Amino acid sequence: MPYEGEFAQYKPLRRLVESERVQKLLGSYKVRTPSDNTNSLQILQPIQIQAGDWIPERLIAIDGSHAEVNIKNGFPGAEASYVTVACVILDVAKMQKLDQQRPVNPKEFKTIEKAESIDCALPGCNVISEGEKSAKDSLRKSIFEVLSAVRMCEDGESLLDTYEALLKYKPTTDQTGQTQKCPYEDCPQKNDYLRGDGQYTCSCELARSLYSTDALRIHERMNPAGTNGAIFGEIMQVWERLWMVHILRTLESKKWLSSLRRLAIILDGQLAVFGQPAWISQAIYQELCRINTVAKRFTEGKDILILGVEKTGTFVEHFENLDRKENGGFGNFPCQSVGLLTDSYIKQNIIFSDSTRPYGDATYFGRKFFYKTKCGARLVVTLPFLAPQHRDLTQAEQSHYPRLADAVGLLDKLVSSRFPNALVPLVSANAEAAIPLRLGNKVLEKLAKELMADNGR
Ligand SMILES: [Zn+2]
Repeated sequence: MPYEGEFAQYKPLRRLVESERVQKLLGSYKVRTPSDNTNSLQILQPIQIQAGDWIPERLIAIDGSHAEVNIKNGFPGAEASYVTVACVILDVAKMQKLDQQRPVNPKEFKTIEKAESIDCALPGCNVISEGEKSAKDSLRKSIFEVLSAVRMCEDGESLLDTYEALLKYKPTTDQTGQTQKCPYEDCPQKNDYLRGDGQYTCSCELARSLYSTDALRIHERMNPAGTNGAIFGEIMQVWERLWMVHILRTLESKKWLSSLRRLAIILDGQLAVFGQPAWISQAIYQELCRINTVAKRFTEGKDILILGVEKTGTFVEHFENLDRKENGGFGNFPCQSVGLLTDSYIKQNIIFSDSTRPYGDATYFGRKFFYKTKCGARLVVTLPFLAPQHRDLTQAEQSHYPRLADAVGLLDKLVSSRFPNALVPLVSANAEAAIPLRLGNKVLEKLAKELMADNGR
């Protein structure tokens, strides 16, 4: 027993180590031999890419943050969460001019960005709002109310309208054939959740409030007696992506889609939705395809350019390892090259899986690639699926990524000189999002008008 000395005082630990069942389990785990990076790189075959010279006039960057705080209301462990999603609009020409005087003076940088944000405080454990019976019901109500209150244009649709448009794509049963249950556990009819728009009532005699946003199912995992950081993370993630669709739908309803010729959207994180509300990712996919088809009539056939950029996680680590030389420095992966990922590459090299379902099938609405910029920054980027053929992960060709050349050309120009492997617009959005309770203004509306005003050029 080699652990004798070390574990002598930890009886439970020794019991675990000696347990036959535990040993059997550990023995059955698959252990991946540390991969030979040169080998992985050979399989991946980075492609030198001719970057496009398209530069948008404006960039919209979206990023959110959430922070849980303890509140004193007489109940133990009472918690609320500040959730904020910021949307920053950058003038690319001005940004490039400033960029030549690197490092950019942050004060001067402020003059080229405008921000809009969703800011709210949501109830968590032991926080019950007026007229509600539990923290869970209070949270459900708050999610609904925040979405109804936010809109990009005074006379345009609300974020709730955007959400309800996506809800129409949701199948009535989940992947396992299960239906959603009524959010009230004591519902006398033991009803399935009755899906609807807006706020309405359960069909049982108690006739309590139901909301269209209950279909997100975020409340189902709420912990009534502890911290709920994970679900506030899910809420933030949904709002960021919802906001992106909201911008596009508002441009459409205002007949401003032609402005997409000169606009790109960058989202912090993957083009995916995880956890309870993951279903919305496939609704977003369908809606993006629809809007893109309409938009192409106004953009000389150009697809919408949306980029998701992730800063951390297994893909980021893997890319770093690929690029690491034996002496510890970087440079294995050539600059201005992309690594286009197939399902089998991902499952064999990044996220181990035997599954026959394609990686991220239920959660992603885009596909990933690695890009090393002109100046050597490593970026893990997702571009959206804008047609069914983009979803074919058995292959990875440039044609599977809408506007890949334009995307990498843009990324070359957006890399931050202050932060390694980060993008200037996301640094700005993050700076905005990191401040809770900023009051939004209607800058997006102004922006769209600006872009439309010089439409004749
Ligand atoms: Zn009921």
